[in-house]
Amino acid sequence: MESQVKKLVIIGSGPAGLTAAIYAARGGLNPLVISGRAQGGQLMLTTDVDDFPGFEEGIQGPDLMIKMRKQAERFGVRFIDEDVASVNFKQKPLEIKTESQELKAESVIIATGAQASWLGIESETRLRGRGVSACAVCDGFFFKGKNVIVVGGGDTAMREAQHLSKIASKLYVVHRRDQFRAQKALVDLVLSKPNVEVIFNKTIEEILGDNMVNGVKLKDKVSGQISQMPIDAVFIAIGHKPSTEFLKGQVELDEKGYVKVTDEVFSSVPGVFVAGDVSDFKYRQAVTAAGAGTKATFEVEHYLEHLKSPTEN
Ligand code: NAP
Repeated sequence: MESQVKKLVIIGSGPAGLTAAIYAARGGLNPLVISGRAQGGQLMLTTDVDDFPGFEEGIQGPDLMIKMRKQAERFGVRFIDEDVASVNFKQKPLEIKTESQELKAESVIIATGAQASWLGIESETRLRGRGVSACAVCDGFFFKGKNVIVVGGGDTAMREAQHLSKIASKLYVVHRRDQFRAQKALVDLVLSKPNVEVIFNKTIEEILGDNMVNGVKLKDKVSGQISQMPIDAVFIAIGHKPSTEFLKGQVELDEKGYVKVTDEVFSSVPGVFVAGDVSDFKYRQAVTAAGAGTKATFEVEHYLEHLKSPTEN
């Protein structure tokens, strides 16, 4: 147990958490980051990041996160590489328990981000890791020269497709509507690949295979017809769910589990601030998350000053 009350504990180590940590350390708040066992957030599962300013040739997602962490460490930020087990925000100081430590803090920034969503069908769960994946960067290599599907029509699906088109022999992008919601530049890039084919207006009814994926049953959304096609792998890229299980009953969450905020970074509990995809279901960019981390830190500074001298302001 760390006996001393921390000024600031940051939960999460994606762009939001690490930017908050850099600003807070430079602002003299001596922050402690609980990074989670899967450190670095969603960018750890991304390849080329071409839209983060400052890298004219682009940068690999994991490299960007390593740089951010090293930058935070340069300013003396300390890390606990564990998940948060529980929090108690009903009293002050705020309490945070990790797997091995109990911490007390005057303020907290929640920056736990979001994780990939799944279709929710039985065969998807049964065959996960056996041809069903939500991470082309992690698992694409296993399907070199094979035929694969990416499910989804957003930016994530296009990024996955872009990566897999370089590995797979044939790639089908299966989307439930007849229009993509992804950025045009990404769609154009994917469609320019000779081995990519788009299947519109279809959903995955079932993923087939005993030990390994060997096909899918597709449902046509217009005609209702079911068809079957052989395939070696299915990559699900249909959006994200916020990582907020541990916050239930502690801060207000919306019906999808995102932390409810006012003025972008204030949670329902004084002293508990929020940054990044854990509350932002709209922009979800590394750069917007980083910006939110900065804003949250400024509000922490203001909050702590006010705690010291409550008669001011
Ligand atoms: P998203 O934009 O919400 O797209 C999810 C896609 O999956 C949609 O096309 C949706 O279909 C489809 N979908 C959702 N549930 C489905 C289901 N049960 N069955 C079949 N299809 C389903 O999510 P995202 O692609 O993960 O992107 C999230 C955010 O991150 C966006 O703001 C995006 O710009 C950002 N992002 C950016 C980059 C980048 O390189 N700049 C990369 C990744 C993500 P509908 O279209 O019919 O709703």
